[in-house]
Amino acid sequence: KTYLRDKPHMNVGTIGHVDHGKTTLTAAITKILSSEKKAEFKKYEEIDHSPEEKRRGITINAACVEYQTDKRHYGHVDCPGHADFIKNMITGAAQMDGCILVVAATDGTMPQTREHLLLAKQIGIKRIVVFVNKVDAADKEMLELVEMEVRELLSEFGFDGDNAPVICGSALNALNGENPELGENRVKELLDAVDTYIEEPVRDLDKPFYLPIESVYSIPGRGTVAGGKLERGRIKKSTECEIVGYDKRIKSIITGVEMFRQILDEAQAGDQIGCLLRGTKKDELRRGMIIAKPGEIKLVNKIEAQIYLLGKDEGGRQKPLTDYFQGHIFCRTWNCSGFLEAPGREMVMPGEDTKVTFTLLKKMALELGERFTVRDGKQTIGYGVVTNI
Ligand code: GDP
Ligand code: MG
Repeated sequence: KTYLRDKPHMNVGTIGHVDHGKTTLTAAITKILSSEKKAEFKKYEEIDHSPEEKRRGITINAACVEYQTDKRHYGHVDCPGHADFIKNMITGAAQMDGCILVVAATDGTMPQTREHLLLAKQIGIKRIVVFVNKVDAADKEMLELVEMEVRELLSEFGFDGDNAPVICGSALNALNGENPELGENRVKELLDAVDTYIEEPVRDLDKPFYLPIESVYSIPGRGTVAGGKLERGRIKKSTECEIVGYDKRIKSIITGVEMFRQILDEAQAGDQIGCLLRGTKKDELRRGMIIAKPGEIKLVNKIEAQIYLLGKDEGGRQKPLTDYFQGHIFCRTWNCSGFLEAPGREMVMPGEDTKVTFTLLKKMALELGERFTVRDGKQTIGYGVVTNI
C-alpha cells in the first residue's frame, strides 16, 4: 500500500511525569479517532510494553502510533516516563514538532514534568498543549491550582504559559468509553487544540538528506531497517547513502522507504520513516548514527560550546563542575560520554552561562548551532549549543 499524502504530516507526542496518564491518553486518542476511521485503535498494552520488557532487561524505545484529524496526519510518540528511561524520552522527543504535556490533577507538576519541559525546550519544541488528567479523581479546587502551576512552569521554561491551551479531562474515562463529558469530549477538544495551536514547522526540503537513526530492526526476508524522523531533504528509493557516527562511516543503499508500513515514493523532511538498507547488518547500526548523503557529514570529537549549568533550584547540581568533568552529552538521537573543560577557569558554576570545550570519546556527527543536553548519571544538569567544531 502506498502512503497517501493528502494532508500535512506532523510529529507529536506525550511527555510528563511517570504515571500521569501519557500512555492511557495515547490509547484513548486512537480509540476515539478509530470510530471515525482516522486511526487504528491501539490498546494500552500494545503501546506500553514496559513491565514485560523491564523484566527481560531490554531497553525500552519510545512507541510510535499513527492517527489523523481532518486537518493533519500525525505520528505520535509515547515516551516512557520512568526515570531510567529519560534517555528514551530525549531521543523520542527529538522527533516531535510539538507535544502534549500530561499532568495528573491528583499530583500536580512533578520533577519529571520540569525535566521534560526543559528537554522539550532544548530540542527546539515551540508549542505545548497541556492535558490535565485524572480529573475524575481530583477535587475541583485542586484543578485550578494545577492549571495555574502548569502555566507558571511553562512560562519559566520560555513557553507561552498564558496562552497555551490547557484541557482538563480523564484519559481513562475516554479510553473506557465512560463519562463523555470528562472523557471523549475532552480528548476531542485536545485534538482540536493540537490541530490549531501546534504550528507546522518550515521543513528544509531542499537541503541534502539528514536522518538521525532512532531505531534499528530487521525484517525477516527483507533486511535491515533504520527508522527515525527525516530532518532535512528528501529520500527516494535506490538512493546511495552513508551511515555515520560513533567513529564509523558505512556505505549503503536505501532500497525502500516506508511510513507506518506504507510505501513512500518520496520521503520528505518531517516524515517519520523506516529505510530499508541494502547489505547493512543490524549489528553495524545503532541509534544515534546519521543517514546522510555520502561525504556530507563531518565527524568530530572536539567541540566548543556555550553551556548553561542548571542551578540547584532548577533541579541541577549543588556543586560546580571542576575541570575535566566526565559527563554525557545527548544530542538528537545520540548520546556519548565526554570530558568537559572550561578554558581559563577552574570550574563551571551552576546558574551561569560558560564557554567550554567537550572532548567526546567517539567521533559523532555534530553541526554548528546544534543543541544538546548534559547529563551526569541519571540527572540532567545542563544544556548547551555548539559554537565551534
Ligand atoms: P504514564 O506512565 O504517564 O504512561 O501513565 P499511564 O497511562 O500508564 O497511567 C498510569 C496509571 O494512571 C494507570 O493505572 C492508569 O489507569 C491511571 N490513569 C490514567 N488516566 C487516568 C484518569 O484519567 N483517571 C484515573 N483515575 N486514572 C487514570
Ligand atoms: Mg507510559
